[in-house]
Amino acid sequence: MIELRDVRKSYPGGVQALDGVSLSVAAGEMLAIVGPSGSGKSTMLNVIGTLDRATEGTVEIAGLDVGALDDDRLSGLRARTIGFVFQQFHLAAGVSALDNVADGLLYSGVPLASRRRRARAALERVGLGHRLTHRPHQLSGGERQRVAVARAIVGSPPLVLADEPTGNLDTAAGAAVLSLLRDLHADGTTVIVITHDRDIAAALPRRVQMRDGRIL
Ligand code: ADP
Repeated sequence: MIELRDVRKSYPGGVQALDGVSLSVAAGEMLAIVGPSGSGKSTMLNVIGTLDRATEGTVEIAGLDVGALDDDRLSGLRARTIGFVFQQFHLAAGVSALDNVADGLLYSGVPLASRRRRARAALERVGLGHRLTHRPHQLSGGERQRVAVARAIVGSPPLVLADEPTGNLDTAAGAAVLSLLRDLHADGTTVIVITHDRDIAAALPRRVQMRDGRIL
């Protein structure tokens, strides 16, 4: 599913956010990325998620060499293949849970009625079938993150990337979100989770430890 070979990412000012990273992730794996703040975790996730391009090295996602794709093809790959969950939820304010999730299919060519039907099914899957018309400010933090998980999976992507998905949640809400991610993994989805939470990291099948832009 993911093949990184000697990937480097530098930012202006001489910051080497990734300093020669190689990583293979098989389809269906679930892994935690751990390491101190500033060690390159988010940068690596953004490169894997094709939100950011590597400065050097090779990135293959679902068998495609990302560096050889133009931005349109990259957007297509992202829309078909990858679901994202972020610490800050990134839901649209004033928009119902149903439409926040349906918007996850905006770039897939699916007509509105069927986007909404699939959004409802995704919200039911995360236990929020009774919150379809609620807007984000009417939901708890845990519910907002479950809406974000529903949006990430509404297109049934084979790969889900989560950057500190429990970072803004209390223990119980965080456990519920992690349990959803584990269910996805059990159903065959490849899942990568950046986490500071030692208990979460320890409970996942594989851990990738980063420091100073490298994998230890
Ligand atoms: P982590 O997720 O482990 O906290 P990051 O990947 O966010 O680490 O950051 C790795 C390094 O790259 C840090 O030194 C950070 O300051 C730097 N960095 C990240 N994004 C940018 C950016 N857009 N511009 C400049 N430097 C950045």
